[in-house]
Amino acid sequence: MSAPPQVPTEVLGWWADGEQHLGTALGRLTDEDFAAPSLLPGWSRQHLLAHVARNADALVNLLTWARTGVETPMYASPEARDAGIAEAAALAPAELRAEVVAATGRLVQAMRALPADAWSAEVRTAQGRTVPAREVPWMRSREVWVHAVDLAAGLDFADVPGDVLAALADDVFRMWDRRDQVPDVAVFAGDREWGTGSLAVAGSLPDVVGWLTGRSDGAGLQADGPLPTPAAWL
Ligand code: ZN
Repeated sequence: MSAPPQVPTEVLGWWADGEQHLGTALGRLTDEDFAAPSLLPGWSRQHLLAHVARNADALVNLLTWARTGVETPMYASPEARDAGIAEAAALAPAELRAEVVAATGRLVQAMRALPADAWSAEVRTAQGRTVPAREVPWMRSREVWVHAVDLAAGLDFADVPGDVLAALADDVFRMWDRRDQVPDVAVFAGDREWGTGSLAVAGSLPDVVGWLTGRSDGAGLQADGPLPTPAAWL
């Protein structure tokens, strides 16, 4: 697609690669694997894939909002969100695979169709945050990269590019900062550093991001004391 103005090319690349990565994860699963648990507590893989599909449609809603100025929330209500996910999760595996692809295609189309000035229009996320529409490619990037890990298809954070991992860590800290939930830590990975707290935590970027995003208990990390349980990210 031609690059929309205001969206960094880097982010568009992360998004495209992330969709492909999720497709790789999906390709590793047999239909029989769909009903088994994902790495997200209480969610089967089919539930997670249904969420990934509905998330694409929810982001299309935000782009519609940006384009028309008519308030079009990601989900009409929390109940509607859950119902939409449950409905898609009940599809046969072949249909659910097709739905994930189709929903992604709808999002690609909506991005292509967005007029240049609409990228700066403000919309509201499901978490109640007001953001310009140009945030949408990153919002989708973080979904597909992290949920490709959550699918338990043999891909983990070590399979995610370093610049995407660093952007995920940035995102987690930004989110905590907004909610005043930054833990009392200073986290080090390679030449990157997050937080200015008293407990030094160090490790590889994949291990750090696994912990920051609540996907691991901190295995592989070194710290001077017990690791706090970080607040939920998304
Ligand atoms: Zn998600």
